[in-house]
Amino acid sequence: MNIKILPCVAFAGVMALVVMGTNSYAGDGNPTPALFSQLETFHGHVCAGSIFGARLGLAAKEALKEAGGTGKFTARYYDLSCPLDGIQVAAGTTYGNRALAVQEQDEHRLVLTASGNKRVVEARLTKKAEELGLKSRDLGKKAKALPADSSERVKLEREIEDIYSWLKTAPTGEVVKITHLSNGKGGR
Ligand SMILES: [Zn+2]
Repeated sequence: MNIKILPCVAFAGVMALVVMGTNSYAGDGNPTPALFSQLETFHGHVCAGSIFGARLGLAAKEALKEAGGTGKFTARYYDLSCPLDGIQVAAGTTYGNRALAVQEQDEHRLVLTASGNKRVVEARLTKKAEELGLKSRDLGKKAKALPADSSERVKLEREIEDIYSWLKTAPTGEVVKITHLSNGKGGR
């Protein structure tokens, strides 16, 4: 991949050392640290939204595989924002491969369809995940208004980091709600 080198690359390098395999699926429904560092480089910053996208994308992909979905998977997301990049990285459904469509209606909802047999799954965020996402955004705004090395800012940034790491590593069922939709209901 031809990507810009970002300041976070040192961190990504450290994270890559702890990754044992190349598979993006850890087996417990969580994206691996390698996937998150790939996402950080692709997306350009760390945020709750892109993490949400990775969680939604991977959970939906695994659920659709388990449901026996065949053929190419195509995604539809209902908001034009940061989660799209997480979906592209984690589910492999991208604009470029024409497997991702966006319908702007301010909803964090991913619908993944198996083109072979038209199996459809829908992934949404749990209330807890959504609330933590909003909280991290508010804390981020507060932190930015403070001097860079003030202890108050450092404290807020630590709190934000804690939220991100929960969003990245909490069991899938605590972050994502999966619904199996019957044929034809997913497109809306
Ligand atoms: Zn973002």
